[in-house]
Amino acid sequence: MPSLRQCEADHACTHAVCFRGVLETAGIRRCAEVCAGHLVDMITALMAWAASRGLGDARVTVLAIPPVHAEPAQESVFVASMPVRGAS
Ligand SMILES: [Zn+2]
Repeated sequence: MPSLRQCEADHACTHAVCFRGVLETAGIRRCAEVCAGHLVDMITALMAWAASRGLGDARVTVLAIPPVHAEPAQESVFVASMPVRGAS
C-alpha cells in the first residue's frame, strides 16, 4: 500500500493531494504537495520563501499529480509556471 500523501499547506487538512509546486532557481529546488483547496496558499508560500531569500529569479512550476491509487500510474501534468516576481 502506498502511503497517503499529506497536504503540506495544513497538516490538519485531510483533502486529497493533487498539486505539486516546484520552486526552482540556481542550485535550489523546493517542492510542496497540497490539495486543490490549498493550491493558492502553497504558491504564495513558495513565492514568499523565495522572496525572503532574495531569489528574485526563481520560478514556481505547478504540476497536477495523479491520486496515489491511480492505475495504471499516471504522469504529472504541467499546469503553470510563473516567475516569483517581475523586475522592479
Ligand atoms: Zn489542503
